Amino acid sequence: MPLQRRQFLQGLIAGVTLTQCRLVPLAATEQNTWDVVIVGAGIAGLAAAQRLQAAGQRVCILEARDRLGGRIWTVSDFAVPVDLGAGWIHGVQENSIQRLAVAAGLPTQVTDYNNLILYNTDGRSLSAAATEDLYAEGDRLLEQVMAQPSGSRDSLQAIITQVHPQALPPSLDFYLNTTIEHERAADVQELSHQHLDSDAAFDGEDVLFPQGYNGIIRYLSQSPAPLTVYRNQPVQRIDYSNPTVITIETNQQLYRARAVIVTVPLGVLKRGRIVFEPALPRVTQQAIDRLGMGLLNKIVLEFPTVFWEDVEILNYISASKGEWCEWLNLHAYTGQPLLIAFNAATVGHRLETWSDTQVITAAMATLRRLYGTKIPDPTKFAITRWGQDPFSYGAYSFIPPLASPQDYRTLAQPIEGRLLFAGEATHDRYPATVHGAYLSGDRAAREWLSAA
Ligand SMILES: Cc1cc2nc3c(=O)[nH]c(=O)nc-3n(C[C@H](O)[C@H](O)[C@H](O)COP(=O)(O)OP(=O)(O)OC[C@H]3O[C@@H](n4cnc5c(N)ncnc54)[C@H](O)[C@@H]3O)c2cc1C
Repeated sequence: MPLQRRQFLQGLIAGVTLTQCRLVPLAATEQNTWDVVIVGAGIAGLAAAQRLQAAGQRVCILEARDRLGGRIWTVSDFAVPVDLGAGWIHGVQENSIQRLAVAAGLPTQVTDYNNLILYNTDGRSLSAAATEDLYAEGDRLLEQVMAQPSGSRDSLQAIITQVHPQALPPSLDFYLNTTIEHERAADVQELSHQHLDSDAAFDGEDVLFPQGYNGIIRYLSQSPAPLTVYRNQPVQRIDYSNPTVITIETNQQLYRARAVIVTVPLGVLKRGRIVFEPALPRVTQQAIDRLGMGLLNKIVLEFPTVFWEDVEILNYISASKGEWCEWLNLHAYTGQPLLIAFNAATVGHRLETWSDTQVITAAMATLRRLYGTKIPDPTKFAITRWGQDPFSYGAYSFIPPLASPQDYRTLAQPIEGRLLFAGEATHDRYPATVHGAYLSGDRAAREWLSAA
């Protein structure tokens, strides 16, 4: 079934506070001079900082939020820790994040994507055979679609229409939504056909962290040595016009450094939230403009009891494409009555315009269709709005028509050898993942070390 092949399924609650990090008070300008300043304390920024610090560089991280981790975000407001950003290590073999998890002693649990139940539009569950048939039909369609030649301008939707000119039935819409659109955080209309499969994946199982992904962040911010992170410091301007010193301006303070590694999400770069002086080279800016920033939102619901099938994944062929189609049953991993719904791309954006009450009402309408009107209301909930988040403006990157993996490589190119970029959208093989982001931070640090 396609779910075996998938790379991944892809805030309202206060952020996680990592109290063990060494917080250095802001002091006189002289003390704010560093070898390297890193912008962003997500996994890429932390990876870069550890590599540089171990090589003897004076390095600090400027982070806009009051927490570390960025798109790794575990909240502790539920019966168990819940991840509102990344959930899985995708493919544990040879994966740096798996190595970190082992070093940190963090428990993980394998996800079996075949341990699922599929509900039809009328709310009745499909038999195992009917479920197999649906996925087999979806697989056939996708194989045909991917076998077609296409030009750089063609979207995945354009080629789907060539292969299947009639409107798709809800079952195939469901298949494409949960198999492609949730994984890529973009609609089939937004995705390049040519480059849909241009990324790579590690072998091995997908695992998640029943005690929270932020264990990785906590570990990396301390190991092998504590890092210096200044929080609540949104960087607004980076001036590299002086050939030896780069000036970094936050809402509160000026910093100086010989080099800067920018790890902010592609969405932040696309919105021009950091002004570069001089402006970024045209090729860099074009890569930023061409790449897409996708959206995947999570809605977490805690209930008094479990009333659903205790399989890992609950899927629903909704009448309206992409709405409330995929749910993760956290009870299967944690023993607590929690569900997470995923909504991506257009549906994800639509939900961001709704109030909390509207979102929860819509989620419950779906669950009541599947499990009856007598099920209880949730006792707690969380709704992510990654698209509106000013320090992310989306979930992760994707390749639209006219863009290509070359854009990831271009964005990764250092400017004058001292303004460097890292983060998931700078890795051409593993974009949109935690491991890609981690590797990109390490790559940027090594680039500076070999240039310095
Ligand atoms: C809902 C969701 C589900 C996901 N699921 C998975 C998954 O299961 N597995 C997987 O591998 N990946 C998953 N991902 C993707 C993964 O989370 C990211 O690829 C990865 O965490 C990105 O790390 P990063 O360091 O590149 O960026 P970030 O983690 O975003 O770090 C960048 C940092 O920069 C900070 N920042 C932004 N603007 C400024 C500024 N102006 N000044 C200073 N700091 C700033 C941000 O606050 C942030 O801390 C998911 C993402 C989302 C949103």
